[in-house]
Amino acid sequence: MIELDSNEQHVVILLGPPGSGKGTQAKRITQELHIPHISTGDILRENIKQKTELGKKAKEFMNAGRLVPDALVLDMLFERVSRVDCKTGYLLDGFPRTIPQAEALDQFLKDNVHLVAINLTVSDDVIIKRISGRLSCPSCGHVHNRYLSPPKKPGVCEKCGGGLMQRPDDHPEVVQERLQVYLKQTAPLIEFYTKKGVIHTIDGEKDAFDVSDLILSLIAR
Ligand code: AMP
Repeated sequence: MIELDSNEQHVVILLGPPGSGKGTQAKRITQELHIPHISTGDILRENIKQKTELGKKAKEFMNAGRLVPDALVLDMLFERVSRVDCKTGYLLDGFPRTIPQAEALDQFLKDNVHLVAINLTVSDDVIIKRISGRLSCPSCGHVHNRYLSPPKKPGVCEKCGGGLMQRPDDHPEVVQERLQVYLKQTAPLIEFYTKKGVIHTIDGEKDAFDVSDLILSLIAR
């Protein structure tokens, strides 16, 4: 376990296209650092499952591969990171995704925040392979890959025994839309955080453990 400087709040942002390994890295890093893993996609999917008002509004956008409107995501996110478990820090997976979201986060963060943004890069070929093979467990959130990490029993989650499924937005036509949305709306954040001098670009095609070690060394620096 890595000890973080307790005089600052540590906020880690993971940027990268769908399939760049943000979810995998987020799990490892938050386990090492003992900070919450905050995935806006997971919170939205939970809202859809629970059929909340937010879930009803978000579903249509998500299934089409488009972004949920900023106003909906911002309220949800700031409520979550204001909770006591985020006091020493937290990791953001899938947020911010637009310049207005990044600006709102900037306003929200207090002065003594140690902000690190990680930009994971991967080629389009690898993205397609990772996403088209992705099998998610709606019960526990564990993710298998049909080609890269298949479950021992087809269709069954190795962690909780639940039934695996393909996320509606992981279907090939929707993935193309998500990639376009990423390039248009999210990729400009790389420049935003470059100007702030807080971003590190890492080759997301490397071995996943090497990538986590590198990210951890950058955060602990
Ligand atoms: P993810 O699990 O991060 O791939 O997110 C799945 C989907 O949730 C995205 O394609 C968006 O429709 C929606 N979503 C997640 N995070 C955000 C965000 N920060 N802003 C807008 N939409 C989001």
